[in-house]
Amino acid sequence: MNAEGGAHEIELPRNVIVGFGISSRFGKHFRRVFPRAELAAVIMGNTIRRKVYPLVKEALEDVGVTPVEVVATDASVSTADIIVEDLRSDRIDVLIGLGGGRSIDISKYAAYKLGKSWVSYPTVASHDGITSPFASLKGFDRPVSRKAKMPNLIFIDVNIIMKAPRRYNIAGFGDLVGKFISVRDWRLAHKLKGEYYGEYSASLALLSAKHVLAFYREIALGTVEGYRVLLEALVSSGVAMGIAGSTRPASGSEHLFAHALSLVAKNPPLHGEAVAVGTILMGYLHGIKWRVLRRRLRFVGAPTTAKELGVTPEEVIEALVRAATIRPERYTILGEKGLTRSAAEKLARATGVID
Ligand SMILES: [Zn+2]
Repeated sequence: MNAEGGAHEIELPRNVIVGFGISSRFGKHFRRVFPRAELAAVIMGNTIRRKVYPLVKEALEDVGVTPVEVVATDASVSTADIIVEDLRSDRIDVLIGLGGGRSIDISKYAAYKLGKSWVSYPTVASHDGITSPFASLKGFDRPVSRKAKMPNLIFIDVNIIMKAPRRYNIAGFGDLVGKFISVRDWRLAHKLKGEYYGEYSASLALLSAKHVLAFYREIALGTVEGYRVLLEALVSSGVAMGIAGSTRPASGSEHLFAHALSLVAKNPPLHGEAVAVGTILMGYLHGIKWRVLRRRLRFVGAPTTAKELGVTPEEVIEALVRAATIRPERYTILGEKGLTRSAAEKLARATGVID
């Protein structure tokens, strides 16, 4: 609890359903959680609308719920605000985020704005936002997450996740390995700045990183066990944020680097891919066994260099220099002022991120 007085709010997801080939049973679970719902907005991208939505539609209709299709073309605040206004006039009971980062974040944000319940129905395991109460959209004044709300129901059909392009699930591994850094940054901020530190949520976030690292072979091979571990770890990392009441346990300097890179790169990589490289860079600064982490990341197939990320060395250096300014109140190993250009370049070279 926060010792400085005031209440500390803990948010937990109420229902988490994970299973194999369970998509046809979605309606039943939905009905149990929302006994009186009649209209549900399903927010998704075009690919998911073709490939997965028909299953969801049928499952909802089977239990007497009418789905309303909402296609989200990008993950910007302006798109999200248009969706919010559209849905305000409908008598929507529940919002369902069906897809990856974009649809999940938009539905989370829209549900929060509209004061409605929401369901997280991920189709990829690319980041821990599938279970966290924080939304990340382009066009906020800063490229960091904002408080939204926890899903009332998280529904994961592992068969759907396993069919997604491998790249997304590898990104999820990268996002999780980042907790080795974020937890250390948090502890540092506690020691040096007296920031509130929650041992329990920190341990939970760290556990999710250790858990995927222990199963890196299964994750690399894409076995059923590997996917199960990955999903469990993503869920518990999201829960760690809900317990902490902030993204602190799951987002430190490795995320600041990833956020900065998303601003400066012409072709930004997936969030979890950038976090993977951020973890190597910040692991070096923290003096942890960053080479071991790099080996594991490589084994799984995650990018570990600028080239593999599809960005230029210059963009990596620029992102490193800018990282500390992205969220000045979040103290990390980068310190208050961040890295100088020459320190950034040295770091990127020492870790082999650039040649
Ligand atoms: Zn993340």
